[in-house]
Amino acid sequence: MSYSVSQERKIVTELPGPRSVELQKRREKSVSRGAGTLANIYMDHGAGAILVDVDGNQLIDLGCGIGVTTIGHAHPEVAAAAAAQAAKLTHTLFTVTPYENYVRVAEKLAEITPGDFEKHSILVNSGAEAVENAVKIARKFTGRRAIVALDHAFHGRTNLTMTMTYRPWPERAGMGPFPGEIYSVPTSYPYRDGLSGAEAAAKTIDYITTHIGASEIAAFFVEPIQGDGGIVIPAPGYFAAIKSFCEENGILFVADEIQAGIARTGAWYSIEHHGVVPDLITTAKGIAGGFPLAAVTGRAEVMDSVQPGGIGGTFGGNPVSTAAALAVFEIIERDGLLAEAQRVERQLRARIGDWTERYDVVGEVRGKGAMFGVELVKPGTTDPNPEALSSVLRYATTHGVIPLDAGSWDSVLRIMPSVVISEELIDDAASVLEAALARL
Ligand SMILES: *Cc1c(COP(=O)(O)O)cnc(C)c1O
Repeated sequence: MSYSVSQERKIVTELPGPRSVELQKRREKSVSRGAGTLANIYMDHGAGAILVDVDGNQLIDLGCGIGVTTIGHAHPEVAAAAAAQAAKLTHTLFTVTPYENYVRVAEKLAEITPGDFEKHSILVNSGAEAVENAVKIARKFTGRRAIVALDHAFHGRTNLTMTMTYRPWPERAGMGPFPGEIYSVPTSYPYRDGLSGAEAAAKTIDYITTHIGASEIAAFFVEPIQGDGGIVIPAPGYFAAIKSFCEENGILFVADEIQAGIARTGAWYSIEHHGVVPDLITTAKGIAGGFPLAAVTGRAEVMDSVQPGGIGGTFGGNPVSTAAALAVFEIIERDGLLAEAQRVERQLRARIGDWTERYDVVGEVRGKGAMFGVELVKPGTTDPNPEALSSVLRYATTHGVIPLDAGSWDSVLRIMPSVVISEELIDDAASVLEAALARL
């Protein structure tokens, strides 16, 4: 594929450049401080794995706006599909008078999500809205109230989903009261707990038995790979044991695949790596190349337990967003992007896998597909090292590389590039990050 922007890092001003600095001043006078930013570098356009800022600097994007532009920035075919749809019809509201794009996206979701049973979907606007709907559907179907989420989880920022999100700061602090019947339970975090999947699952289940009661629980929410929580991948067998526990106790197993789904980890859905079939799946971020779209997909009998009008919303499954999603599905299949994510995993592993030996602040390098975490620790310990992370982020972003932060202690460097990133760009970005680590 040839790109409208050369796939290379090119720095032509200081970073942030003069136009970014000017925009930042305006922003401080007009935008809420609550919308925090990682790097105050204002972007103008992008292609593939490169972002171009308002001063003409070309930056390597290792974050994809949190895993959204998985197929690359401003993909011309997605842009064309969206533009064509925008010129034809932008809104009717599916629940007033429907249209085909919505149905086609639901058909495709039924095909690509794991599980060989009839599946139905609802389309909404954001990840948090998908999670909220999954909670409502699970409660309606089971007639139960309690919702379980894992430690280190991130499920969103609405009132309900911030309560399911693990850490109080910054997502939740000062913003209660919170809804009841939401429980955080211990997870499997191999680097920190040293437990096997079976041992960690026994701990989770014991906590549930002694704090909540299995018969009270409507749904058990998991991120098969935790994104904001720090690219935490539970030990093998953990999710299989949790799924069996859910089946034995009439609990719906919900995979929140908002960040790890849609090709990111080398499979359509990251739960596939664990060999578990969820009852419900939430999808968002990577589904429409940057257009707002999210979904809950699951067993037909569960999804259909809700009375008509019980779920939905004005913009959900918008014609333009669904047109973009259909283009994204087609590009992933035609261009073999699941295999590309696997290639990125091999190249990242080969390039940065030995950082634990080379830098005493690196505790672990872990990941799947184009979704990696580098856990930074105080040398000689496993204590989280948030100062090291902020120093690495500052160095990287001022040298033309945009990674992400993550982790409950703000100490995991998150690397989530587009799956089309070239080996040369991986190498160049890694060199910048190595310079940042070497300075510590
Ligand atoms: C981003 C994210 C959400 C929330 O999605 P929004 O679109 O920001 O509301 C929920 N769950 C996971 C796993 C996410 O990564």
